[in-house]
Amino acid sequence: MKPLILALFLILNAHKLFAWGFEPHRRINQQACLILPAPLFGFYKSHISFMMQHATDPDMRRYIDSLEAGRHYIDLEHFGGNMDSLPFNYYQAENKYGPLHLIKEGNLPWNIVRNVYFLKNAFSENNVDKILKISADLGHYVADAHVPLHTTQNYNGQLSGQHGIHSLWETLIPDLFMDTILIPVPKFEYQKNWISTVWNCIEKSHSHVNTVLSLELQVRLAIPESNWYEFQQTNNGVKKTYSSEYVKLYHQKLNGMVENRFIASAQLFAQLIYTAWILAGEPELEESQGLKNSEEPSTVENNSNRIELDCDHQ
Ligand SMILES: [Zn+2]
Repeated sequence: MKPLILALFLILNAHKLFAWGFEPHRRINQQACLILPAPLFGFYKSHISFMMQHATDPDMRRYIDSLEAGRHYIDLEHFGGNMDSLPFNYYQAENKYGPLHLIKEGNLPWNIVRNVYFLKNAFSENNVDKILKISADLGHYVADAHVPLHTTQNYNGQLSGQHGIHSLWETLIPDLFMDTILIPVPKFEYQKNWISTVWNCIEKSHSHVNTVLSLELQVRLAIPESNWYEFQQTNNGVKKTYSSEYVKLYHQKLNGMVENRFIASAQLFAQLIYTAWILAGEPELEESQGLKNSEEPSTVENNSNRIELDCDHQ
């Protein structure tokens, strides 16, 4: 892309710098490592600090890579609102909507599938640096796919007078349960239709959008406006945030939705690691390269790699 176009997309996407909070991303990556079956469990457990530490790398990249933002969301309203008409195959989607549309309105589900194939290739090469780097990224994108507000143009309640709802849902509510949550171990069995599972996850997230918005409106009506916010002292000064009364009532009204999406994030992420490993032919995991002495793998350039998607489940 030309510099001018890149700059344009930076501006277009600048308002979409939202994600699960820093800590929820770290915890989702951590929990996924702990529910993997052997031998993946042993491998990832020995690198769990890397997986946590790099869980938010994709968010950091959004500041330097104009193509990154769209990988974190999909505004389904801009794709006709009907997921049945969306091609699973990225190149078919590109033909149908145009590459710029996919950058601006988001390409999260295709990006997850793409990263599973990157991970498969990394396993095939037994490249530990790449396996870890791509895994940490994949965990981030899978977690984003479980956030209803990552599937809608009203991603921060800005279209319905609910500005701020994004961090309320995905940062402040997880703070209430993250320390004690237990992730049930899912069944690990290779699913031929794993790409459908990725898309089903997006569909489920989107099905929660109206509930996420309407319940927050109920909280607004239930609590006097003077009690909506409070001020917290942070290292950077005083910060205005939702009051604990507000967060707790919203959490109560959501009735477990955020925990369930958190659990599902860790489970699907673990299952996709397993899928990539199976697709690679269940290679032995050797620590032959990198990371034994250092927790800093080299940067994996996955932006420009166009891989052949042998996954056309149309
Ligand atoms: Zn993100």
